Amino acid sequence: MKIYLASGNAHKAEEFQALATSSGIGVTIVSAAAAGGMPPVVEDTGTFVGNARKKALALRAKLPEDAWVLADDSGLCVDTLEGAPGVESAYYAGPQGDAAANLAKLVAVMRHVPEASRGAHFLCVLLVRGPAGAEQVFEGLCHGRLEREPRGGAGFGYDPLFVPAGLARTFSELPETEKNRLSHRGRAWARLAEWIRQGSK
Ligand code: IMP
Repeated sequence: MKIYLASGNAHKAEEFQALATSSGIGVTIVSAAAAGGMPPVVEDTGTFVGNARKKALALRAKLPEDAWVLADDSGLCVDTLEGAPGVESAYYAGPQGDAAANLAKLVAVMRHVPEASRGAHFLCVLLVRGPAGAEQVFEGLCHGRLEREPRGGAGFGYDPLFVPAGLARTFSELPETEKNRLSHRGRAWARLAEWIRQGSK
């Protein structure tokens, strides 16, 4: 089964292909580039599902009628910030979407927050649309807490600050396979894979 990924980010296509391969469900992820490129989408719906749907529909319009499309949206929700940056995670420090500036802003905002109030979770929504327009949404959560200073060299975004529950290392200090197993994206993917295994009903 081929699924087009509604994202202009080549790294994401690789990451989803790695998840698909490790779950052994016979899914091939096709990047939006194969459909002529991901159309620009303004992620302004205010919800993870709404943004994912907007991306899926934008690519859907360029695909053959029988194509399947996958879109994702994710972010970091911090307890003491009432869920911020949430859907705004990519633009926390401004519209230019600078990941290093976003991380620096979060470090500064959280500087005086005590240990007991540093809880946060990553959330990922995966939205699949089939040929007949039927839509399925899968959600994955990863709970944890925020360090005071970034640690580790791997990953992206807020990874150097986030320690998943039960571990002492940040996402940036974990091997990629371990992050994928624990992460919000990995968990949402596990649900999607189970749905495909059951026959996509
Ligand atoms: P996207 O919707 O997957 O593009 O993610 C939006 C933003 O959320 C990213 O730009 C990051 O700031 C943040 N984010 C989402 N997933 C992760 C992750 O696994 N690690 C670190 N940051 C993430």
